[in-house]
Amino acid sequence: MIIIIKMMAVLSGRKKKHSRKRDEILGLIRSTTSHPGARWVYERLKPLFPRLSLGTVYRNIRSFREEGELASVGVVQGEERFDGRVQPHPHFICSRCGKIVDIDGSMDKNQGMPEGVIIPPDLYVDPRKTVLYGLCGDCRKADEKGMTTV
Ligand SMILES: [Zn+2]
Ligand SMILES: [Zn+2]
Repeated sequence: MIIIIKMMAVLSGRKKKHSRKRDEILGLIRSTTSHPGARWVYERLKPLFPRLSLGTVYRNIRSFREEGELASVGVVQGEERFDGRVQPHPHFICSRCGKIVDIDGSMDKNQGMPEGVIIPPDLYVDPRKTVLYGLCGDCRKADEKGMTTV
């Protein structure tokens, strides 16, 4: 029994030690609308936690996802991107720079799709997985040819 209590003390102690790091990871992802990847989080927290590894960031993000604290937007340009806004909403993804933008609008009106898009009435669109692709404003400005080069 004493051994068990001691083990629990060690475990809870370890948990406490990691909680600030965990809070920072979650807080950082929630503080931005840029839908960052684990590397973005790692680069920002590394100066605060010199012993932080990219693997630790991944592990914490995965557990936050399992707890419903974070959502995944999916893999964009080879890296999984995350969202601190867990309520279902569609996304716009720039095909060139990988920028992810939240698309707002009433979900009951045309299932959150832009006007002109007709969803057959027997289909249900999962807003969490609705993604529109194109070019963001910055990429359009940088490229006068615009849509032709997507
Ligand atoms: Zn772009
Ligand atoms: Zn989002």
